[in-house]
Amino acid sequence: MKIEHASLSDKGKVRENNEDACGQFVPAEKDEQAQKGILFLVADGMGGHRGGEIASRLAVEAIVSAFTQSQETDRAGVLVSAFEHANTLILTESTTDTTLFGMGTTCTAIALHGSHAYFAHVGDSRAYCQRGDQLTQMTNDHSLVGEMVRSGIITDEDARTHPRRNVITRSLGIQESLMTDTPNSPFEVMAGDTFLLCSDGLTSFVEDDEIARVLAGNDVDSQCETLVRLANDGGGKDNITVQVIRIVEV
Ligand code: CA
Repeated sequence: MKIEHASLSDKGKVRENNEDACGQFVPAEKDEQAQKGILFLVADGMGGHRGGEIASRLAVEAIVSAFTQSQETDRAGVLVSAFEHANTLILTESTTDTTLFGMGTTCTAIALHGSHAYFAHVGDSRAYCQRGDQLTQMTNDHSLVGEMVRSGIITDEDARTHPRRNVITRSLGIQESLMTDTPNSPFEVMAGDTFLLCSDGLTSFVEDDEIARVLAGNDVDSQCETLVRLANDGGGKDNITVQVIRIVEV
């Protein structure tokens, strides 16, 4: 598989710190890529003091490390185990150091292997796939408003301004048991597909049709810069993290 990719993380216009983190594992060697695949992930941390920053960074490091070291062939299973490993690590850290108590993080990951994409997801960060001019959200938000939208209680538009829009219903590092979303079957990748991983600092301020327009043109670096600029133009009230992965050749 041949890909182009870029990432950008920005603290926005209001927050003092950047509690988002992102990471990737892109093997240079063809053999290693064929065996382990390619990994991208975005995490959005929460918790007082330095907790949020630490939780998201721990998640990214632990998941990349577990993913690269695993000998398992089931890539979706590897991702789920890696998420569970990160969950335990963050929980242990937050119960050992009282200043970090209650820290947690979202995490959304995509693994590319063979001609397939595998997603794993906890929280309200998102993965999208743009194919042609069609943008599809590949993940369900684990948030109070996300659940209300899915039950038909409120609309997408209401969710943007809902007073409890920041309440997330699943995260890493809070409970011993973790439910990670991963599709039952892998997603068949096609040349030209563009994947976006992002924190809610993007999607709270930039509409899907605007995201689709950005992903339809330009190179991946410019796409990341434009998305972050649009989120800041929309208020920049949260940290903004984006990763764009374009499939050049399957
Ligand atoms: Ca956020």
